[in-house]
Parts: sequence; C-alpha cells; structure tokens
Amino acid sequence: MRLNTNYGKLVDSYLFSAVSKKVESFRQSHPEADIISLGIGDVTLPLAKAVTSAMHNAVDELSGAATFKGYSPEAGYDFLRDAAQGYYALKGVDLDLCEIFISDGAKSDCGNILDIFGANNNVLIPNPVYPVYVDTNIMRGTNVRYSNGGVNNNFLPVPRDTDSSGAVDIIYLCSPNNPTGAVYDRLQLKQWVDYAIANQAIILFDAAYEAFVSDDNLPSSIYQIDGAKECAIEFCSFSKTAGFTGVRCGYTVVPQSLNFDGISVNKLWGRRQSTKFNGVSYITQKGAAAALSPEGLKQIKDNLRYYKNNASLIANTLTRLGVWYTGGTHSPYIWLKCPNNMKSWDFFDLLLQKTNVVGTPGEGFGANGEGFFRLTAFGNHENVAKAMQRIERMLS
Ligand code: PLP
Repeated sequence: MRLNTNYGKLVDSYLFSAVSKKVESFRQSHPEADIISLGIGDVTLPLAKAVTSAMHNAVDELSGAATFKGYSPEAGYDFLRDAAQGYYALKGVDLDLCEIFISDGAKSDCGNILDIFGANNNVLIPNPVYPVYVDTNIMRGTNVRYSNGGVNNNFLPVPRDTDSSGAVDIIYLCSPNNPTGAVYDRLQLKQWVDYAIANQAIILFDAAYEAFVSDDNLPSSIYQIDGAKECAIEFCSFSKTAGFTGVRCGYTVVPQSLNFDGISVNKLWGRRQSTKFNGVSYITQKGAAAALSPEGLKQIKDNLRYYKNNASLIANTLTRLGVWYTGGTHSPYIWLKCPNNMKSWDFFDLLLQKTNVVGTPGEGFGANGEGFFRLTAFGNHENVAKAMQRIERMLS
C-alpha cells in the first residue's frame, strides 16, 4: 500500500492559525483592548427572507408523503439550473441547462475538476491568490508555474507576466480576485482567452465574487468574452453572493463547445459528478433558486451593498492617506501596500499593537504577497468605521 506522497509536498497552511494565535496572545496581555477584525473572510449578514422562506417551504414539502424528495439529480434540479440560466441571461450570456452543474460550492469543484485532467499537465496559477488552487495541484502532482501579480500590473497578471516559457495546459484566473480585490477588464480577459486558444489550454475561471461587480463594462463572467466557451470552465458560488458559506451551494458551467482531442469536457465532468457526487439537498437548492428570483436578487443586493459600503469606507480612507491599494470597488477585499516598505507580518504586528485592528498578511497568499496586506469588508459597519479612524490616526 502506498499513500499519495504528494501530500508531503504541501506547505502547512499556517496563515489563519498564526493570525489567531497572535491575536489570542495579544488579547491575554491586553484584556482591555477593543480588538476589531478586518480579516474576516466569511459573510456576517443573515440569509435573505426570500431564501429562508423558500427553505421553510421545502422542509414542509419533505414532511409530506406526496411531496417528499429523495436523492437530487446529481447535476441539480432543473428549477435551480433554470434560475442560474436566467441569471446568466441578465449578463448577456446564453447557457444550455446541460452546461450548468449544481454543487456544494466552488471550493469543492475547483479541487474536484482536476479529476478529469491528466496529472502531467502544466498549470499556471496567479501569485498571489486563493491558496486552494496551488494546494489541490500539489496533491495531484501537476507541474505548477505562476503568473506574477505586482504593483506594475495592479495584481492583474496577463500572459506576458508568466514565469519563464514552456507549455501551459491549465490556467487559473480569479476575478474579482481573492485576496487582491482586483478585477480584470474585457481586454485583459480577452488576452487570456486568446492565449488559451493558441496554446490549446483550458481556463478555470473562479467567479466566486462575480456578484460584487456593479459596472456593466467590467466582465462578471468569462463568457462575456468572445471565444471563452471554447476554452473556459467557470465556477460560481452562492457563498458570498447570497450568504451561503454555511448552507453550501454553488454551480460550475462547462460549455458543450469545450472539446479536447475530440472529447467533450462537459460529458467528462457529468460522468465524474454522477459517479462521485450525490447532489445538493432539496432545501438548499430551493433556497438558492429563491436567491436568484427577482425578489431574492433585490434582497441579496441589499447585503452586497452593505459590504460594498464597508469596502468603500476602507478604500476612501486609504486614498486619503496616499496608501497604494487595489480592490474595494467591485470586491469585498482591499489589498494594500504596507507603509514604509514594511513586511506583511511586521505591519500586522504594528497594526495590532497600535490600533488593535486585525488584518491578513499578504505573504500568506503567495510569495508576491510579501509587503502587502488584505483588509475585508465583511464586518459590522460601525466597527469598520472605528477601525479605519484608528488606522487614519496612526498613519497620518
Ligand atoms: N473561490 C474563492 C476565490 C474564494 O475566496 C472562496 C472562499 O473564500 C471560494 C472559492 C469558496 O467558495 P465556496 O464557499 O462556494 O466553496
């Protein structure tokens, strides 16, 4: 018996445990401190009424013999695929129902998708980025290279920002980005689509934060770019869109026109899901469909507006202070350059000691994050305002 030795190559994910250890130790030595976290990566507002009411009705259906449901179809109920199709139509993107696969979230699908690709692929991952892409590829044993984000490209790497030359088979993109909050424009995404097609590569586009894009000129789906249906898979999530981080629901779009060596990627993913996945609960899917109904969309937009207000409060303060940052407009994340060229963890310590505000050191999201720092907009508005006043006082 052999274990998967690739797991031995993983670097321990110390970021959030190191943050909470430092905060805990500070709390013990300063019990009077009013600590505010701008490091929260989880939503804090409750589910929309339209969602909970649909979920209550679904529970009632399950308690009657005539309306009881067992296993869900593996790719999801048509009522939710219909709702997702309608949501994409609002973006000007036509999808066939069979191109939409309901899942328990974008994280699972971002990792599971590697099942349908060979293990000897060359994979291109942005640096810095959501750590799941790197770790799932290390587990799989693929060859990982990086596309480099930095101040020079506003943390939006394009094909020319890749490490060295060589074949590329799988390209990860995340927009709006975690952790940088940066959002690709159409021309930048078009460069990636053209590059993928020229290299016969596939793009894995993580759109977990698409709902934060509120400018029609900015793409919130890669399928708004010509040619993307021939080269891209898109991951969507109800987590940040509708507060489903604990409820768990997402969907992955695999176009029928996506074929490699004459094999349909849509069919492979369908086969993978029907073999290894048994669907999302009826109650959850009813709640998710309600989030995409006209009433639900209005209600979830109220929550998004609340977070976006926080984000602009943070961004406006940094602008006044002359601190370089990305994000904060079409994203719940603000990514700032640590003042005085400080390193990420040094700035973390300084901020905690001088202002009792907690953020996330950028270095934890990849080597190019060193010297940068992530603040998030998921907190309570009064606390965000208080935290930013303290930061403004410290940096003025
Ligand atoms: N993708 C990105 C970029 C994320 O930041 C997150 C969560 O933080 C996810 C995916 C996970 O989404 P889900 O909750 O749908 O698994």
